[in-house]
Amino acid sequence: MAENAAAKTYNTRDEVDFVIVGSGSAGGIMAKELSTAGFSVVVLEQGPHLTAADFRHDEWAIEHSNELTWNTRQGHPQTFRRTENDVAQTGVGGLGYAHNVGGSSVHYSGNFWRMRPLDFNEASVRGGVPGTNFVDWPISYEELEPYYTKVDWEIGVSGQQGPWDPPRSREYPCPPMPVKSSDVLLERGAKALGLTAYPAPVAILSQPHNGRPGCIHCGFCNGYGCEANAKSSTMVAMIPLALASGNCELRTGCTVARVNTNEAGRANEVVYWDANGVEQSQHAKAVVLCANGAETPRLLLLSESAQHPNGLSNSSGMVGKNLMFNCHASAVGLFEQPVNAWKSVPATRVIHDYYALDPALGFYGGGGIDGRHPTRGTPMGSAMNALFSGPTWGADYKRNLARNFSYTAAFSGHCTSLPLETNNVSLDPELKDKFGRPALRTTYLDHPDDIATAKFFMERCLELMDAAGAIQKVGTYPENGQRGSVHLLGTCRMGNDPATSVVDRFNRSHDVPNLFMVDGSSMVTSSRGQPTMTIMALAFRAADNIIGFARRGEI
Ligand SMILES: Cc1cc2nc3c(=O)[nH]c(=O)nc-3n(C[C@H](O)[C@H](O)[C@H](O)COP(=O)(O)OP(=O)(O)OC[C@H]3O[C@@H](n4cnc5c(N)ncnc54)[C@H](O)[C@@H]3O)c2cc1C
Repeated sequence: MAENAAAKTYNTRDEVDFVIVGSGSAGGIMAKELSTAGFSVVVLEQGPHLTAADFRHDEWAIEHSNELTWNTRQGHPQTFRRTENDVAQTGVGGLGYAHNVGGSSVHYSGNFWRMRPLDFNEASVRGGVPGTNFVDWPISYEELEPYYTKVDWEIGVSGQQGPWDPPRSREYPCPPMPVKSSDVLLERGAKALGLTAYPAPVAILSQPHNGRPGCIHCGFCNGYGCEANAKSSTMVAMIPLALASGNCELRTGCTVARVNTNEAGRANEVVYWDANGVEQSQHAKAVVLCANGAETPRLLLLSESAQHPNGLSNSSGMVGKNLMFNCHASAVGLFEQPVNAWKSVPATRVIHDYYALDPALGFYGGGGIDGRHPTRGTPMGSAMNALFSGPTWGADYKRNLARNFSYTAAFSGHCTSLPLETNNVSLDPELKDKFGRPALRTTYLDHPDDIATAKFFMERCLELMDAAGAIQKVGTYPENGQRGSVHLLGTCRMGNDPATSVVDRFNRSHDVPNLFMVDGSSMVTSSRGQPTMTIMALAFRAADNIIGFARRGEI
């Protein structure tokens, strides 16, 4: 655990320039950018400040006890229902994220796809999808490109420009990861089918960069923190720079309860419980919410007042709505020879031939396919997921387990989710968390086009398995809809129209001029999967603009 070696501390009664809520993928970037620009910054993070020394290959702690993620055991229950006509239940699904400095960037897999120009105006180019809130973004790829490049170089991304990748202003700082075994099979299948598998961009260093070492290929990326500091989290790439600025205080173990506004309708105070559970508050000139696509809307809804009876920044009624997960599909194949796909980073090659599906198919969608280990690449992950039917106990089970762990590979499809008002996060009317706050309630049922897209991707993955030489295969996709995700997108969507969006093109609240929502919640569409590259680019862009506003006295 790191000492919070903040060079600076602020009094809670002092009015700092910015309070940032959450220190994850977006919050870490905001902290670094605003503090190194000379502004006084207090970051409130509910979790601890871990370091590489805290990260172990402890499968029980991570995969069974979910130690890095917020869960019921830690006093943070959630409920889930498919539609508003259903009774929301605990233990049937949920939204996953890490509660620690660096947020989910500490335990993500690090697959880092840029969105393409089409993603930003697809509704116009392709046409809308009736019954959805599928619209264009208020910004273009060209406006975001410099910030994607900033992510590449400041956060640290390894890759190589692919045949259909969007234009980039600078090469990747690190070469692509060496191809792993499951991706040799993906390449084989792709070649046989006339598709192109090319190096997948990852937020993991293939060689030393910015004072951090290259990857040691231990295989413990997905869900685990990196003991080598090669994974490019904001914990290692941004927070140290924020603290070194001398302008940033990082307060850990501090759970924000609400944001208060003054009579002029400006956010002026952030109320939180400190590490001892004592209520505190911090005064600020401006507030930046980076608590993710689940917790940012929850905080806004919890910040209701006489002035804001439906929650803060919710005049549009869109806070919490349009939740998008990204849909997915997979094919697992058994091979005659050992594959050992558990080695190295989760994915090293990707196929993007199906980025945008032909509208003639009759449904909207698109995505990419990469090659991986079928489970998290850990023995316990394999033991907990029966890949092929067979005995679930005894000597035969053990023999199958050993075989399945080493002789299998998965081809995984990552694809679009449409924004729907009916898919949302809201406050559970009955269940409370350990602070007595209404628990997070998720209502989610994938749009039929998302399920059709996932099925399309499963079929392509199965074809690739055949072409790669699998002797046995099984395909899956969420045919009845997803019950949870770690991609939490769209719940404070960006837009030009205050009647239909929560933040403007600069991530500023339409309703409260000194309040900014900067995290996965501002995404307008879901990307094709792997949204965090875009979340980080949006954070760098928002910071640039917020610094400009602050310097010009426009906040
Ligand atoms: C296992 C796993 C694998 C993943 N793999 C990939 C991948 O390969 N590619 C990809 O693109 N994405 C991946 N993701 C998703 C990615 O991690 C998220 O999209 C991204 O981190 C979201 O960034 P964010 O800034 O919106 O929020 P987060 O990173 O979740 O940060 C939010 C922070 O706010 C804090 N917080 C929340 N509420 C409060 C409060 N009330 N008070 C104080 N602090 C608060 C949280 O503790 C957290 O630190 C993965 C996620 C997981 C869990």
